[in-house]
Amino acid sequence: MPLTAHIVGAGLGGLAAAAALAAVGLRVHVFEQAEALGEVGAGVQLSPNAMLALRAMGLEQKILDAGFEPTSAVIRDGRTGKSYLHAPLAEECRRRYGAPYVHIHRADLHGILRAAAEDAGAVVETGARATGYAAAMTRPELLLDSGQTRAADLLIGADGVRSVIRAQMTDADATFTHQVAWRGLIPARDLPDRLIPPDATVWAGPGRHFVAYYVRGGDLVNFVAVEERTAWRSESWTQLGDKAALRAVFDGWRPEITTLIDHVDQTFLWALLDRAPLPKWSDGKVALLGDACHPMPPFMAQGAAMAIEDAWVLAKCVEADGGANLPRALQRYEALRKPRTSRVLNQSRANADLFHMSGPISRARLLAASFLPRRFALAPLDWLYGFDPTATPSHPDWGAAG
Ligand code: FAD
Repeated sequence: MPLTAHIVGAGLGGLAAAAALAAVGLRVHVFEQAEALGEVGAGVQLSPNAMLALRAMGLEQKILDAGFEPTSAVIRDGRTGKSYLHAPLAEECRRRYGAPYVHIHRADLHGILRAAAEDAGAVVETGARATGYAAAMTRPELLLDSGQTRAADLLIGADGVRSVIRAQMTDADATFTHQVAWRGLIPARDLPDRLIPPDATVWAGPGRHFVAYYVRGGDLVNFVAVEERTAWRSESWTQLGDKAALRAVFDGWRPEITTLIDHVDQTFLWALLDRAPLPKWSDGKVALLGDACHPMPPFMAQGAAMAIEDAWVLAKCVEADGGANLPRALQRYEALRKPRTSRVLNQSRANADLFHMSGPISRARLLAASFLPRRFALAPLDWLYGFDPTATPSHPDWGAAG
């Protein structure tokens, strides 16, 4: 009999885990609270480390077909346009890390992962809200708000930053980072020619920054605008954005930015949350994955990438174990993933200071970056982009975690 796995949450992390676990032979059932599957209208950057996992899942070409390969990563001053950093991405990532850097619409990535999961035999059930779990050490039971209980060999909580599975495992809740993010998409044909370069551009400035890049083969421009705020006053952690308020935040900034804002129809506003690394990610045969265990600010563009890496490593740990000792396999997964995701979390937090020019050290770092020759500009990120999650030793007896 194949092992069975229940996954809570059909976000990018849950679907990646469903595809990876089903591909190694598990019978997988995903429980999603939403009535219909989908993703927000926004882009996501996939760095080479995530693309290596997606390649191993047989999805690289589909992602390239739906996505956009940026020429470079650029940091500029949001008001003067001065260039601080220019790191070549397109050819350089393929040469240096053996995989591309891709921008993709989240709905396109979500659709690709869902198809991969279902093609491998996973079942995705919508309108199924989890409330907790029981019997973690024996055969974990998923508790649903319908009153049903569903048991499987393994239970994965991929239910995002407000995870109920995490809440039962440890009481360390995520907190507001005092930053909010607007997101929007604009058809490229509505914009003046060459307004937005084919790069991943960050425009930096005091207390705020703005990111823009193409998705869907260059048909759409995605932006993320981040502002520091003392408080979040809404009940919900997301809400419709007020375009006039967004325009006011970036008043006097570069015309690329103000023109983009002028052309957007609808924006959404997110409160950004994060959390110090959790004391544990697993409880017997129950484990967490993605934002449920390591929510991070998006300033390294790595939250989804980490969830995808998690998915691959989790599947390999379970496959190597073969059901002999699943709690040990999940501890192995946690030991392999926690140091890396914690490092990315810390770096993401530090990038907020850099992009928001908070203090003389950040400004000095930006200035120093402007003297870095382009061919060396990616070197500080080798530990991140050059990591191959598919080369991770997944069996407890195979080498050290790290
Ligand atoms: P989620 O996407 O939150 O999915 C959780 C799923 O679980 C949802 O479908 C939810 O409905 C469901 N769920 C929740 N509770 C329950 C329940 N009780 N029962 C059943 N289902 C439940 N990452 C990158 O790699 N690159 C980027 O460029 C990037 N840009 C970003 C920009 C912004 C502004 C933000 C905010 C984030 C960005 N990220 C990026 C991070 C990335 O979006 C997240 O890390 C990623 O989407 C997390 O996926 P997840 O599946 O873990 O969680």
